[in-house]
Amino acid sequence: MTRTLASLVALALCLALAPAELAAQQRRLVTIASGWVVGVYYPLAGAISRIVYNAKDLNLRATVESSGASVANAQLIGAGDADFALLQNDIAYYAYNGAVLPAFKDRPIRNMGGLFTIYPELVHVVATQASGVKSVRDLRGKRVVLGPPGSGTEQNALQLLEAHGLREADLARAERIDAAAAADQLKDGRVDAAFFTTGLGSAVIVDAFLTGKVVLVPVGAAEVEALRKKYPFYTLERVPAGTYRGQEREVTTPAVMAMMVARTELPEDLVYRVTRVIFENLPQFHAAHAAAKHLRLETALNGMPIPLHPGAERFFREKGVAR
Ligand code: GLU
Repeated sequence: MTRTLASLVALALCLALAPAELAAQQRRLVTIASGWVVGVYYPLAGAISRIVYNAKDLNLRATVESSGASVANAQLIGAGDADFALLQNDIAYYAYNGAVLPAFKDRPIRNMGGLFTIYPELVHVVATQASGVKSVRDLRGKRVVLGPPGSGTEQNALQLLEAHGLREADLARAERIDAAAAADQLKDGRVDAAFFTTGLGSAVIVDAFLTGKVVLVPVGAAEVEALRKKYPFYTLERVPAGTYRGQEREVTTPAVMAMMVARTELPEDLVYRVTRVIFENLPQFHAAHAAAKHLRLETALNGMPIPLHPGAERFFREKGVAR
């Protein structure tokens, strides 16, 4: 008798919970491939996930996945293992066109549609003071982290070395490790230098500078110009003095653009509404990271290297923003 009563109570509870439970379950699940937990993509994807969740009528739940970043993310989109992704505009172009990078040669990723570009990602070349490295050329014979596996950073590092007449084989050691591990190894002096293509003020660079033992290696305008001849996505950017602790001098360095994409198999309406809700909640997006403040409607298609997703296309057409 008591057992029957208990089951009845349990049943009643289930019934009472059911509508809310059901509503939560009915939300369509989408994934956002981001980047390094210590970088900028990851907090931005987190902000997008919250914005999307709070827009109840969207009925979506977006989970954020960390990754090596750009190259890995393009491949995740290609394989249908991610719905949205953040990546560099140079890598997006090479992926879509199956060009330049071995990862994409003869394997173009055509199911990737652009949403918007966001902020410049600067190639931070960080060296230990002890290494005496003052220019990319000085990396010859040094222990260098090229970037995380699957990163855009690794590709930028190889291209920048090439523009200075260096190949991977000219380094004493070339590593591909996680960004947080690269910062640790710089701090401990286990490597001489490391590359990070990431937004200004990225946590991993802030962290590396806390020890007071590292410097930013400048890349001059002439070198960036040489790089652009072969890889046209690079622009010249400045890292103002004092951006990082103890960084006394302003340096220049090449940069690409961070951007967002979606799988073209996603319905137009879904991508339209996600794009719209992000632009309707810009203050919340901007609060996620200093670099996020670059996102503005008027400039959101600058540097867009691939065709837009039809949903984004509709949004920007409605807003009168042309490419
Ligand atoms: N742009 C980086 C890469 O693809 C990721 C940067 C980040 O996570 O902030 O290598």
